Amino acid sequence: AQAHLDAIAAARGLNAFLLETPERALDMAAVADAKLAAGEARPLEGLPLGIKDLFCTYGVPTTAGSKILEGFQPHYESAVSHNLWRDGAVMLGKLNLDEFAMGSSNETSAFGNVVSPWRRGGSDAPLVPGGSSGGSAAAVAARLCLGATATDTGGSIRQPAAFTGTVGIKPTYGRCSRWGTVAFASSLDQAGPIARTVRDCAILLRSMAGPDPRDTTCADLPVPDFEAALSRGVKGLTIGIPREYRVDGMPAEIQRLWEQGAEWLKAAGATIREISLPHTKLALPAYYIVAPAEASSNLARYDGVRYGLRVPGKDIADMYEQTRAAGFGREVKRRIMIGTYVLSAGYYDAYYVRAQKIRTLIKRDFETVYADGIDAILTPATPSAAFGIGEKANADPVEMYLNDVFTVTVNMAGLPGIAVPAGLDAQGLPLGLQLIGRPFDEETLFAAAQAIE
Ligand code: GLN
Repeated sequence: AQAHLDAIAAARGLNAFLLETPERALDMAAVADAKLAAGEARPLEGLPLGIKDLFCTYGVPTTAGSKILEGFQPHYESAVSHNLWRDGAVMLGKLNLDEFAMGSSNETSAFGNVVSPWRRGGSDAPLVPGGSSGGSAAAVAARLCLGATATDTGGSIRQPAAFTGTVGIKPTYGRCSRWGTVAFASSLDQAGPIARTVRDCAILLRSMAGPDPRDTTCADLPVPDFEAALSRGVKGLTIGIPREYRVDGMPAEIQRLWEQGAEWLKAAGATIREISLPHTKLALPAYYIVAPAEASSNLARYDGVRYGLRVPGKDIADMYEQTRAAGFGREVKRRIMIGTYVLSAGYYDAYYVRAQKIRTLIKRDFETVYADGIDAILTPATPSAAFGIGEKANADPVEMYLNDVFTVTVNMAGLPGIAVPAGLDAQGLPLGLQLIGRPFDEETLFAAAQAIE
């Protein structure tokens, strides 16, 4: 714990941690030492972790990357972080993120962007770590923590993992409790780990997951021993390669990596089969209707009365307006406007209802291939390697949204997806592959991801 706290202090330039909690870390480490000495070690005894600042932590400020939560100190602990502490993990601090997890580069954080520890060969230009879990990915990649919690609504675990050469899994919707995690889009949000290896992710997810009556969408299923599943290998599995993911303009090196990944799986004993997921191209536009719609509703609670920031006004309506105008950043305001628009009386059927129908079609595409014998699906994790800070932040927002083309389908269908580092591009930056699994079959994903790793 002390070595990691020192590493964090030496790497403040990355802006990965919003808050360091050294006292809590050392207290927890002392308990871990005692447990170890007594021969009573719990599964994660003494392992130092970072927590994305979207998870509420008891008595420790939680910002969601937003000014609107200024001064908010939860008097409860998120289910996921609670489970980690129950198993002996040590909290190092709270990690930076895009504001309310809206973004793909960590540049929407109200507390400044995160800098990736990676650089392009021969260049000092700072790169984004991806987002929204950019602090989590950068901290793991820079070895400031052994692993980190993250959340994924449309790709926020898998895309930053791919950009930083780390492993990240978004489990099946319902595998982890959402209780005590600040909500973005409730029907899509899932927690999961980012860590350096597939094995570390398997170990962390086992602790994070599990039934919780406080989240009615949390599955009442036992949590498998994911680590034990690693030894299964991929012999006998059928891996699908969806042709619709061969998008126009995909860099040749991503295409090559994807083929290489299929070769590795084949060499390890899997059968590779081309498949079709016909509604894939509708996923991104439908996601950018469903996610803002849910966000606009979830963010209605930040009114200056119940949480954090309050900017005084002449009456209560003015106070709401002043607070929300000052407290939310540009991207969050954009999402709230899109969300309220698509939910408004005249447009609800044209946008929201149609997006929900598309969501069903996407889900059926996956059900069809799984019923046809496919065990997991291999795709690239992202359409490019990490880009430069500022390179896309001021462009058309749609350009940023395009980062999610390969990941949002998984959230729309509620499936598990893992991003695993698979190689470097010509400039020496990490590239990741994604494996998509059947509902509640993270075990197959872990086994297959290890064959690529
Ligand atoms: N980049 C996507 C968005 O901005 C996904 C974010 C996420 O998964 N939290 O909505």
